[in-house]
Amino acid sequence: MKKFGIKEFRLCQRGVINAALEGRDIVVVMPTGGGKSLTYQLPAILTSGVTLVISPLLSLISDQVYHMREIDVEAVKQTGSTSKSEQDAINARLGWMVGEGGKKEINLLYCTPEKISKSKRFQGILQRLADVKRLTRIVIDEAHCVSQLGHDFRPDYQKLHILRQLFPKVPIMALSATCPPLVLKDLLKILGLKGTVSGDAADSTSTVYFTSPLYRPNLHYQVLPKPADSNKVFDEMTKWILKEHRNDSGIVYCLSKKDTEKVATELRKRGNIQTGVYHADRTDKEKEDLHGNWQKGKIKVVCATIAFGLGIDKGDVRFVIHHSISKSLDGFYQESGRAGRDGKDSDCILYYRAQDASTLSTMSMTDKDGASKLHAMLTFAQDLKQCRKIQFANYFSHSSNLSITSWSTSDLSAREPCGHCDNCTRPPDSFQWKDVTVEAWQLLKIVEHVHREAGNVTLAQVVELARSTGKGTFAAGGGGGGRKRGRNIGGWGGKEQVELDLDVVCGGKVEMKKEDVETLLVELLLKRYLREQFHSTAYATIAYIQPGECAARLTRFSDKDSLKDLPDGSKIFCGIRTKVKVTKSTTTKKSTKSTAKASGSATTTAKSSKGKG
Ligand code: ADP
Ligand code: MG
Ligand code: ZN
Repeated sequence: MKKFGIKEFRLCQRGVINAALEGRDIVVVMPTGGGKSLTYQLPAILTSGVTLVISPLLSLISDQVYHMREIDVEAVKQTGSTSKSEQDAINARLGWMVGEGGKKEINLLYCTPEKISKSKRFQGILQRLADVKRLTRIVIDEAHCVSQLGHDFRPDYQKLHILRQLFPKVPIMALSATCPPLVLKDLLKILGLKGTVSGDAADSTSTVYFTSPLYRPNLHYQVLPKPADSNKVFDEMTKWILKEHRNDSGIVYCLSKKDTEKVATELRKRGNIQTGVYHADRTDKEKEDLHGNWQKGKIKVVCATIAFGLGIDKGDVRFVIHHSISKSLDGFYQESGRAGRDGKDSDCILYYRAQDASTLSTMSMTDKDGASKLHAMLTFAQDLKQCRKIQFANYFSHSSNLSITSWSTSDLSAREPCGHCDNCTRPPDSFQWKDVTVEAWQLLKIVEHVHREAGNVTLAQVVELARSTGKGTFAAGGGGGGRKRGRNIGGWGGKEQVELDLDVVCGGKVEMKKEDVETLLVELLLKRYLREQFHSTAYATIAYIQPGECAARLTRFSDKDSLKDLPDGSKIFCGIRTKVKVTKSTTTKKSTKSTAKASGSATTTAKSSKGKG
């Protein structure tokens, strides 16, 4: 402990370390910055033999080896960029350890997953170590990367399933900051962790699972409405950064490489903010420069795609802004969680516009379980009532049907509202929990009609139709209409002509603001009243919407009036923003907890969470 310069254990560190010393298979899920490394570093120096640590990034490995050597722990690395002579020296030392030893033993051997899957020689050396019981344990850092269901899947990680076959007797320890139930299940299966086959009873040899509360009280979450006009978005973002974090470091996550460049330019132009750009197409030199300048504070705000991630080791990131939603809630949690690793108050802002749902769904269409992962993200973004902390807790809480011994640090407050997120502090008059059954019925009638008469229709087209004057002949289908805004409806260039008379189809136009119609359409998608159908051309993929499996619950009614008698449970409710108020930072009022609890919104939150849980 002294060696590591720490006074006491944090979260479940003690338990993990004890289980490691017992030689159990272990899964550890602890938030970023929680102190996962110590849970294998300490056992590694307390037991003889080598601990093999597999980590995804060279920079992470180099960092750790450097820190370990500083405190006199024998740590070495084997990666693609290790020189031949260095490799030979390490292999020779490992060879001695197989024999009688004598020379300085290696405690920690770091490597990349490629090294395991690609180097037979390395495998052979490890095998000989294992044969003489000198391979003490195998640690897999960022273990969620093994699962295709996770947000950061890496094919080389999946190949780590061979570890159990090669070294059946060596305990495995898997570490991650984000591991929702399905990913956990997949991970247990892929890595072949002990006693995790369903039906097995948990016993004294089966895998031990540790979780710590994911909630980080210093992170203040807010979802802000994203204006349709992109210039307005840049204006607001600039204003917010200058007001709340003028001289602070931050990250703006964007969907595309193009967006990162655009956002960086606009923030600089509007607010003279020192921005940098990071995405996969930047050269190694550019990336390195950016990291350096960001550490030094020469660059304040990094505008990046999600390629900017794992290697970040900067504690004082005061804000993370999402210019668009992420593909999944785990991704969003992880990305926004790069704020405030030093424990100080930080802001996590999500700009959300329902129409981004279409763009994202075409992007994640080919991902495994892409739709359900995106739906979790959309559900979070659309929810104006339930505390963000509770939403995360519900999403990440692990399903109880896994037969593994499970420990979590006591977190009796997991289902208590945080008191300082946007939903806990939302002024009651800024939003309305509205019965929108009639509007939902109208939209479904329109979708049903156009779908039947003409085939394909996009979300954006339905929005325009719903708010149009309502009578005429329209062309539907074809490409492009979903992306370009403000087009003449007659000019879609589709194949089929549709006769549409809103009075006949759905009793008149839909009386709602454009953004609210978009929000309601997404709500109907999430509730399966609508569904998406993808159409790929040589140039792009377009998401069309169609009546979903639940549509008939409403469309079976032939007129608005019959909806009045529906029981509450069959009605559709939706949170509608009544007053768009721009961003008040929560960091300035730290003792928000008690105030918000006293206010009405926190009470509602508590109630609704009970209903769901
Ligand atoms: P993780 O891998 O979970 O994101 P790290 O292992 O990198 O986190 O640890 C984050 C920081 O916390 C490191 O600087 C580490 O030295 C520190 N740390 C870990 N455990 C403790 C502890 N028990 N007390 C104080 N600091 C700790
Ligand atoms: Mg770590
Ligand atoms: Zn809250």
